[in-house]
Amino acid sequence: MSRIFSTTGFSLDPMTIKQNLQTIRNTITETAIDCGRDPSSIKLVAVSKRHSIACIEEAMAAKQYLFGENYIQEAQEKIDSLPGADFHFIGHIQSNKAKIAAELFSMIETVDRYKLAKALNKHLEKLDRELNILIQVNIGKDLNKSGIAPEKTGEFLQQIRSFSRIHPLGLMTIPPFSTDNEETRIHFQNLRLLSSELAEQGLFADNTKVELSMGMSHDYKIAIAEGATIIRVGTAIFGKRPDRE
Ligand SMILES: *Cc1c(COP(=O)(O)O)cnc(C)c1O
Repeated sequence: MSRIFSTTGFSLDPMTIKQNLQTIRNTITETAIDCGRDPSSIKLVAVSKRHSIACIEEAMAAKQYLFGENYIQEAQEKIDSLPGADFHFIGHIQSNKAKIAAELFSMIETVDRYKLAKALNKHLEKLDRELNILIQVNIGKDLNKSGIAPEKTGEFLQQIRSFSRIHPLGLMTIPPFSTDNEETRIHFQNLRLLSSELAEQGLFADNTKVELSMGMSHDYKIAIAEGATIIRVGTAIFGKRPDRE
């Protein structure tokens, strides 16, 4: 199989990666303070998919240690080379890749099917490992996006309750793309409202501290204002992604 990313080279000047990270950290702090939130309650996942290991190392030199990847094979190569980094999986996982996913990541943000949850739990038992997960919700009911329907999320959390190795810490979403900030804001608000309802029903691993992963390069400020605890930012840190070969 051909490589899906180049192991060398930068998509951007290495200095630019550092500067971009600094700009984003400043924006996170300012946005959080503006809406009365503690900036340290927001974690930045630097989305490194299709960018080289050298790019990730540059970000690590600027003290960014948490990354997000979408492709299992590509992630495996990076994780093996970068023991000091922590990786969230944020892509679509086929159930037959559950074994490797259960080994590699500190969190899987995109659990949206019973079969996947079951497969992860089974492999985690064998590995004697526990794993934090988020439930991916298709908050905008976008036909092109994965994720569980909002109204089915509670039932899904009930169904996976007996899987003791996976800990659902919260919800993740990718809203339908819109250039209208107010439309995007409503989707983020809806995810937050859904998470509060589910927390009231006691469906998360810690119902006093529910994680909300929402917001990307173009909308992370809105997401922070609406309660994101995890933002996933790629392009604004690493530049445009190289095309797949
Ligand atoms: C690629 C990706 C991101 C990062 O998107 P940018 O627009 O480059 O910041 C965030 N979340 C998910 C799920 C992604 O696939």
